[in-house]
Amino acid sequence: MIEYESLANSNQQFMRELETAATNVIRSGWYVLGHEVTEFEKEFATWVGTRHCIGVANGLDALILSIEALMLPKGSEILVASNTYIATILAIIRAGHKPVLVEPDAETFNIDPLQITASITSATRAICVTHLFGKACRMDDICAIANEYGLKLIEDCAQSHGAKLSGRMTGTFGDAGCFSFYPTKNLGAIGDAGAVVTDNDEIADRLRHLRNYGSKQKYINKYVGVNSRLDEMQAALLRVKLRHLDEMTEHKRNLARVYFKNLPDWMALPHQKEDEYDVFHIFGVRYQERDRLKSWLLEQGVKTEIHYPIPPHRQEAMQGILQGDYPIADKLHETELSLPISVGHTIEDVQLVTNIIKQFKI
Ligand SMILES: *Cc1c(COP(=O)(O)O)cnc(C)c1O
Repeated sequence: MIEYESLANSNQQFMRELETAATNVIRSGWYVLGHEVTEFEKEFATWVGTRHCIGVANGLDALILSIEALMLPKGSEILVASNTYIATILAIIRAGHKPVLVEPDAETFNIDPLQITASITSATRAICVTHLFGKACRMDDICAIANEYGLKLIEDCAQSHGAKLSGRMTGTFGDAGCFSFYPTKNLGAIGDAGAVVTDNDEIADRLRHLRNYGSKQKYINKYVGVNSRLDEMQAALLRVKLRHLDEMTEHKRNLARVYFKNLPDWMALPHQKEDEYDVFHIFGVRYQERDRLKSWLLEQGVKTEIHYPIPPHRQEAMQGILQGDYPIADKLHETELSLPISVGHTIEDVQLVTNIIKQFKI
C-alpha cells in the first residue's frame, strides 16, 4: 500500500533532533512565548526575507489577525479565490468583512488577475490571495492591481513555504504573509502552529499585541486581543525542521519531476512556468472521471486525496454568505486528484505510482 502521507514517516528522518529539542523545552520550565519562539521568529523571518515574523497558534489565526491588523472599516469587501481552502474565507468573515469570490485560472488553480479587476467595487479594500498547492500566484500582476486601486494585500502562504515568483518568496509581496505549520504542511509542526511575516512595523506591532490579549507588556492591554500564542514546544520543533526545509522542498520537487516525466498525457498535469518555483504542497492532476480513477487506484494499493471535494460556495456554512455561480471552481473540485508527494515518499514510490496509473483503462 502506498499511503497518501504518513506523518510518522515524514518526521522519521528528524526524530533524534526533534526528541532532543522537545526534552530541552520540557526541562527549561518555560512553555509559552519564550526563547524558542523568539529565535524561531528571527530564523523564519530571515528565511522568508522579511523584517518581522510573529508566531501565532495556527494558520487561520494568522489570517484573521493579519486582516484585523489592517484596520479596515467593518464590512469591507475582500477579494478571495473561489477555490481556496475555506479557511481563507472564514478568516475574512471572522475579521468582520465580506468575502467576494473571484474565479481562478483553470490551468494554474490560482486566482485570476483579470477576474480580480472585474470584481473590484467602491467597497473593495483588500485582496487575499492563496498560493494554492505550493504555486505562487501572479503577484506581478496582482501587486500592480493592488497599487492601482489602493487595495491592501494579504497572502495566504499556508501551502507555499518557499514558493517563489521570479526568485521572490511568497509572503514578501503583500502587507502580510500568513503561514500555517499544521502537521501536513511543507513546514509542519507536531501539532498546531502558525505565523505572520511582514515588513510593516505597525502591522507587526499590532499582531504582537493581538495574539496575546492585546498586550505586549504584562497587564497593559492596548487592543481587544485574543489568545493565539505560539508555544515553546512547537517553536523548538519548528526550528529543527526549518533547518531541513530547503532539503525537504528539493525532495518534493524531485518527486514532482518523476511525475512530470512519466505520467500519461490523458491527465492534466500541474501547470508549470519558467519564472515560477513551485514547492508542491499538493501534486494536483485533473481527469474528467476522477472518482473512477481514484477508486481504481485504491484497489491497486495507491491512496490519493481530493483538494477539495466541495467548493466553499456549496458548503452549508456559506449559505446566505456566498452567492453566485462559480463554474471554474466547480469544475476543478469535480476533476482534481492529489497524488502522493510527501517527504516520506521515495523516488521509487512515485515511479511505482506512475507505472500503475499507466495501466488505467481510460
Ligand atoms: C491549512 C490552510 C489554512 C489553515 O491553517 P491551519 O493552521 O489549519 O489553521 C489556511 N489556508 C490554507 C490555504 C490552508 O491550506
